[in-house]
Amino acid sequence: MYSSLHGGGQTHIKYAHFYFPRKIEVLCCNCSKPSTLTNIDAPTAVEFFIDIASYRHEWNFECNYCLKRKTIEWDDVKNFELLNKINIRNETIWAWNTNHLDYLVSVLSDIENKNHEWAFYRHYIKKNWFQKTKNKSDRKKLSDLLTTNINLFKTQS
Ligand SMILES: [Zn+2]
Repeated sequence: MYSSLHGGGQTHIKYAHFYFPRKIEVLCCNCSKPSTLTNIDAPTAVEFFIDIASYRHEWNFECNYCLKRKTIEWDDVKNFELLNKINIRNETIWAWNTNHLDYLVSVLSDIENKNHEWAFYRHYIKKNWFQKTKNKSDRKKLSDLLTTNINLFKTQS
């Protein structure tokens, strides 16, 4: 579980230390259903933000299934299992949320949407992820994950 975010070299240092996602989709720590962590201060219009002093590094955890709610610090984010995560040939490809995954799928499928809200994050896509997603069936696994997770939140709200 821990490795999903910070362990095993699966995360990029820059990613974790300077840029913070506003919304992180995770599995509930109580009921394991899809749930969200939303930064308390970042405006809803932004997908991520730079480490600005005026933003508290706190996220609201909310589960619409079991109704668990709590406030957590950035350091506790790593204790949650990411929802948008898939293992493709021994490489874990992951995204903060389905919109981020949507961008990753576009890049890794050679149909990059350069105007995407997450386009800035292109620099942080691991080289391995390109290597592991060269064939159709692996790309399909990724796009299937995206479709599944988009629908998860649709049916929930
Ligand atoms: Zn729950």
